[in-house]
Amino acid sequence: MKIKRVCIFCSSSNSLYEEYYKDGINLGELLGKEGYDLVYGGSKLGIMYKTVKAAKDNGAKITGIMPEKLYDCGFSENYCDEFYLTKGMRERKALLDEKSDAVIALAGGFGTLEEVSEMIVQKQLHYNNKPIIFLNTRGFYDNLLKFFDNIIEERFALQNAKNLYFVANSPKEVLNYLKSYDLKAELLSDKELIKEILSK
Ligand code: AMP
Repeated sequence: MKIKRVCIFCSSSNSLYEEYYKDGINLGELLGKEGYDLVYGGSKLGIMYKTVKAAKDNGAKITGIMPEKLYDCGFSENYCDEFYLTKGMRERKALLDEKSDAVIALAGGFGTLEEVSEMIVQKQLHYNNKPIIFLNTRGFYDNLLKFFDNIIEERFALQNAKNLYFVANSPKEVLNYLKSYDLKAELLSDKELIKEILSK
């Protein structure tokens, strides 16, 4: 199966250093040019909006998924090719997952952290084998990645948990990783998974 639909998680803030938006725009352009479609939170705010706009301008189809509450606040963007309204945030996350083959976390706040953490856990428990990529603009994720290392060192996760995600230092590295990713790599059976977890 080929990766086609890429979900982006990233900041809804409009007051960040320009570098964050630049990386989003650059990533969106590359994704659009390479024929990927984007799935995202559906809003007209922050890095997410700039990223999907650049992708759309370069040929990507955009799917937006937004909870009713944010929609009612007027945050939606009418430039999506497909748009879904959900009752709440949990239903939205499930749909973002269902509609995508890959995940990229650009810099973001609590919303981004929540979304990408859930995807790492899904993959850790072998619900799927999607690529999960952090785009580490300005070293934004350095401290979080150190904390992840500590989770592993202190044995709260298996040594191989580092393979659950990839850290890219530029949009180009994101694309290279996406293109080389083997979506078909076999997931362990539940029995093997249990053995693996018990060996922690
Ligand atoms: P944050 O990182 O806290 O700015 O939250 C951004 C992430 O949470 C995005 O990936 C969205 O899916 C979701 N989110 C948070 N705020 C909004 C908003 N105003 N409009 C759309 N999505 C949002």
